Amino acid sequence: MSGIYIHIPFCKQACHYCDFHFSTSLKKKDPLLVALQKELVLRAEEFKDREVTSLYFGGGTPSLLEGFELERLIDCVEENYLLAKDAEITLEANPDDLDRDKISTLASTRIDRLSIGIQSFLEEELRLMNRAHSAEQSHLSLELATEFFENLSIDLIYGIPDQTIQKWQQNLNWALKYNLPHISSYALTVEPRTALKSFIDKGLIPEIDEELVEEHFYLLIDTLEKNGYLHYEISNFGKPGYFARNNTAYWQGKSYIGIGPSAHSYDGYGRSWNVRNNSKYIAGLDKGILPLEREKLSKRDRYNEYVMTGLRTQWGVSLEKLKNDFGTAYHDYLLQQSAQYIKDAKLFLEGDILRVTKSGKFLVDGIASHLFMLNLEK
Ligand code: SF4
Repeated sequence: MSGIYIHIPFCKQACHYCDFHFSTSLKKKDPLLVALQKELVLRAEEFKDREVTSLYFGGGTPSLLEGFELERLIDCVEENYLLAKDAEITLEANPDDLDRDKISTLASTRIDRLSIGIQSFLEEELRLMNRAHSAEQSHLSLELATEFFENLSIDLIYGIPDQTIQKWQQNLNWALKYNLPHISSYALTVEPRTALKSFIDKGLIPEIDEELVEEHFYLLIDTLEKNGYLHYEISNFGKPGYFARNNTAYWQGKSYIGIGPSAHSYDGYGRSWNVRNNSKYIAGLDKGILPLEREKLSKRDRYNEYVMTGLRTQWGVSLEKLKNDFGTAYHDYLLQQSAQYIKDAKLFLEGDILRVTKSGKFLVDGIASHLFMLNLEK
């Protein structure tokens, strides 16, 4: 189970909260697409003899690409890697790109899953976030997408300033209307150096209300679980058989290659990350050089990563795996660090699996960081 992620670093406009890597100019689109193919070819060795079970176009906004451009990239993967016959091929798409023509073109390619950046069904919330689409397009894109694709996911954002609990419930009710197999939902976070941060600092937009965010989070869980979704990762809900393959591989510590500027890769022992700049990325690949930096993960880094991803998912942290992969000292350390959280009913042990309780879910990142190994030997 291995995955390839391809980053398409272009967007129509900058959403106020976004700190991903993208450019709003499409001038370098063609050379960038050539560079992506070069990187795919150069890195094929890394996945020699390994079956690729998921291919994911993320961004940025991959739906800005034409159908034939996406097909060319899929061809390149197929020619250089062992792309499984039933590989899940996902495209992130924005509602404003999805008219009937575009969706039917996408449906005629090998892409079999769309992840649509709805974020909200309310006009005022979309405007506050500076999304390029309207509330009407949120609905239209889903009406069309459900006609052409069976495997669909949407993204929704909660904790938006001025988003009352009623407005959030309204968003969830609309999402449920489309009977989607998968929903991802994230709290709005204020990243440094974003327009949102500067508007909040200037008092133009109210601060995020953490208590309301927590209320939204639990309303999300209760509403979706009541409607047949499994809460399999802290921000992800799927009907049985519809967990996102690409992300699941990542959470389960499987290898993935990230292609494109700013994309990250992981091979079980180390990480690498590509340069976060379109021109430098293109120039590097023009010379046949991979524009990336690598880091080998220490045992401690791998333990910390396993604890974080394990607690964020329904699979939890296996004490047996911990003992086998990291040794008794790590196993004992985790038990000692988690004792108080177990007493406070934020974590629980079921057999040899450590998981977060419902009331621990909202705090999961903070809890995981208290279980991290900070200063033992590498
Ligand atoms: S469309 Fe996505 S990647 Fe592009 S600016 Fe908005 S949130 Fe960021």
